[in-house]
Amino acid sequence: MSFSLIVPVRNVNRSAAYMLKVRNLTLGCAKMAAFDSSSDSWISNSRPSTWSVISTGICLAAASVFRCNLERLPQGCRYSFTACKLPARYDMGFAQRRSGRFGLTKYNHICPACGSADCRALPVPHPTRSMISDGSVTGKPLKRSSCTNCGHGFHFESLSERDVREIYGDNYSIGLRDTAAEVERSLEYDRQVRGFLADLGSETHFTKIIEFGCGSGTLLNHLTTNLEAEFGIGVEPSAKVAAYASSIAGERVSIQQGFAEQFADTAQRDTLCLSVNVIEHASNPLAFLQACARTIDETGRILIVCPDGEAAGSELLFYDHISSFTSRSLATIAARARLTAIADAPLIGVLKGFRIYLFRLMATVVGSNCGDFQSLADQRIDYLRTWSKIAGAVDQTLVGQKYGVFGAGEYCDLLHAYTPAIIEGAMFLVADRPLEKQLYDKPVISTEEFLKSAPISLIAAVHERNWRVIHDRFKLASVPMIHPFEVVSQDALR
Ligand SMILES: [Zn+2]
Repeated sequence: MSFSLIVPVRNVNRSAAYMLKVRNLTLGCAKMAAFDSSSDSWISNSRPSTWSVISTGICLAAASVFRCNLERLPQGCRYSFTACKLPARYDMGFAQRRSGRFGLTKYNHICPACGSADCRALPVPHPTRSMISDGSVTGKPLKRSSCTNCGHGFHFESLSERDVREIYGDNYSIGLRDTAAEVERSLEYDRQVRGFLADLGSETHFTKIIEFGCGSGTLLNHLTTNLEAEFGIGVEPSAKVAAYASSIAGERVSIQQGFAEQFADTAQRDTLCLSVNVIEHASNPLAFLQACARTIDETGRILIVCPDGEAAGSELLFYDHISSFTSRSLATIAARARLTAIADAPLIGVLKGFRIYLFRLMATVVGSNCGDFQSLADQRIDYLRTWSKIAGAVDQTLVGQKYGVFGAGEYCDLLHAYTPAIIEGAMFLVADRPLEKQLYDKPVISTEEFLKSAPISLIAAVHERNWRVIHDRFKLASVPMIHPFEVVSQDALR
């Protein structure tokens, strides 16, 4: 075990670093490191005599957080930290926040799923911005790592409680922009979840269904009816959404406000514990799975749907996705919650990109052997690097031309977050079924209206997997259209 305390510094070359020294009492060795936020690089093994403490206040704050003792150093530096009780898997640091206040940042050098240190940093798609699932922009860069042992994707800098609170504030509105589409998706989830269970044969009878993160409760209402369960319980953290879910809850369905981890009912026979696109947001996926495991006995099942992390894709771009799961990494964490996967399968059609898992309790914990996820890390690196190059590539391709953006949904939000200049430069946005008249200060017009006017070039703000279909559709109407990804790969279809 080795511990280090890492302190961000500004302009190290000009003003010298904050100095901290951490002594690992167990091994009796000391480690030093500093992070230069001006150049985004780590400085380690610097000689203490070249550093000086320029803020004793920070050191005192650090000492109180880590319950460290401060002692005077014999020469060169004024303070050191000793006897720090730091978790072995984290280096700790202080980051100066935009507010000017100092907070705590955890750096995850080790995979939170399997504990491997073989992790690769992924490219940062934008230096100062990233996107939250509801389309809003946060002023923090997206810094992820990919484990080459189990394929798990995770934030290199852990999100603090405050970061999480900021994400899920009152304005968090996922699914509320297009409620009709959300209802359609719920119907499709209902159909595919039941299909998946039916394929497993005897797995379709449940007395009770519990859904963690039930949102509007639409899926829970459908499943309770269609699986002929006696009752359904939906648990939803947002008060506003929980109130709405209660108002449309079916006869046998009840809604509770709260987090999965707070759910206190005792396990009953034949329970299905369900969660759809929740676990990737959990700040502690193990605690979430343990909460799921508490709801079932040996007759129950846990059904989880989450983005399929086995292929690099847009789910990596969502800042509030704490985890990108592979089957392997989810199984590794599940084993620690005494759960074992019975089956898993990719979802299809409009739900492509998501994966469904079914777990049951297991008597003994089995260690998982992991594999080689180098190529997944390579794919993720390529994918995020492409995003970091889109703005420049599109700018070069269009050189001063007028253009519009086709699509006003999630992909448009992603372009707005990571390549804001593309949206800013557009004349308008085009959508088959405009939901609002304006988005990002641009008028949103219907495809019909667009085709009536002299068509200008369009940038496709559509998911890579739908690009070919959209391209062919507009080709028939002789509209020049490019997709940002193809521009970057210099393979743009004209
Ligand atoms: Zn791992």
